Amino acid sequence: MTERIEIIRSVRATWTPPPAGACASVDREVFLGYPGEPAVARLAREEDAKRVCARCSVLLECRESALAETNPVGVRGGLTPNERGAVRRRRAHH
Ligand code: SF4
Repeated sequence: MTERIEIIRSVRATWTPPPAGACASVDREVFLGYPGEPAVARLAREEDAKRVCARCSVLLECRESALAETNPVGVRGGLTPNERGAVRRRRAHH
């Protein structure tokens, strides 16, 4: 748990939205979780972020880039960390 909190803090401190991304003009807090974020708040925030990603011109590139990392924080390419993990696992078995 402590390790995860450190990862969240690190990503929060260093994440810069891609300049061409729709998220570049949106409050970055929409995309980033925070330690201790309640599940209800997280789910609502993730849906807000996904709506931004849905109108992003670099969605596919961003998604592949996020899938190539194992960053467990934030919505990227329209996918939550759990969804990215599921895609990685599916790809690993094909
Ligand atoms: S797909 Fe989402 S996270 Fe990626 S650049 Fe676009 S808006 Fe940002």
